[in-house]
Amino acid sequence: MKKLSLLLSLLLCLTPLFGCASTPERNASFFLMNTTVTVTLYTSNDALAEEVFEGCRSLLSELESLWARQRADSETARMNASESGVDDLDLRTVALLQKALEVSRATGGAFDITVAPAVDLWQRCGEADRLPEKDELDAILRLIGYQHLTLTEHTLIKSDPAIAVDLGGIGKGEAMTLLLDYLKTTTIVGGLVSFGSNVAVFGEKPSGKPFTVALRDPKNASGTVGSLTLSAGKVLSVSGDYERYVTVGGERYHHIVDPATGYPAQSGLSSVAVVTDDGAFADALSTALFVMGEDAAMAFYRNGGYDFEAIFVTSDGEVRVTDGLTGCWQKA
Ligand code: AMP
Ligand code: MG
Repeated sequence: MKKLSLLLSLLLCLTPLFGCASTPERNASFFLMNTTVTVTLYTSNDALAEEVFEGCRSLLSELESLWARQRADSETARMNASESGVDDLDLRTVALLQKALEVSRATGGAFDITVAPAVDLWQRCGEADRLPEKDELDAILRLIGYQHLTLTEHTLIKSDPAIAVDLGGIGKGEAMTLLLDYLKTTTIVGGLVSFGSNVAVFGEKPSGKPFTVALRDPKNASGTVGSLTLSAGKVLSVSGDYERYVTVGGERYHHIVDPATGYPAQSGLSSVAVVTDDGAFADALSTALFVMGEDAAMAFYRNGGYDFEAIFVTSDGEVRVTDGLTGCWQKA
């Protein structure tokens, strides 16, 4: 029996609060990268809306074919199957890997795409309803470490054939940015994209009102902890312990791995939301800050290396937001 539970409607947590007068709102959803994507466009032009929905679907389908680890022909699968690495990578993959390695260095390895063997081990353990053995953990910990990867112009080099990457913590965020870039080339005046636990707005609502998204309460799928006004071009990414998990002996083990232990991160946080201009950074930082815990995450924020804002929900339900969100965040 498959034990991996996946709460798809990310945004179940992020409920767009709309309401606009004249120009109709049109929505389309697709299932890509193992996640539901919903695109909302404000336009009264049916043909244009269809064309843009198709443009979004086709872009995301291309990215899925590059990055989905489960697809044997993807660049990720090729990297993982290779002895020493791959060359001739697509430029979009190179850009994504560059950002992933940059966030790994900046966060002292809290974000690390080489967690793939740990992700797989927990999946197998969930299916067998057992915890990992010490020797299994030792074996995978030797393979985890972004330092095992070297990226050159179009090539990724691995220091050991067993090193494998998982882009699940950053790929959807990067896809959001590429999607926003595409949407800006169209004549659609505004809209919203939600993709797993990432959401972004572009342009303006015809009503001129701001876009507001509600943030899910990690402990209650139908509850919210507050809502946030999101400006055009910003991406909001959420990492939460409720999103995906396996169950062993009736206990949940969530999907965010602490690369230092190989175990699901136990940092005292239940969810972290990050808002910034670049989707890949929003996505990777939300994962990293979740692993780091609130104190280290706040120190990282104050250190100022990245321009972002964040909302932390602790395991005991406390909600804390960074200073830059004053005026944009409304507590529930
Ligand atoms: P997110 O939901 O964005 O926090 O991403 C979690 C996904 O990223 C997991 O399902 C894994 O595929 C992968 N992942 C888990 N832990 C890490 C980590 N510490 N660094 C990078 N990717 C991770
Ligand atoms: Mg992430």
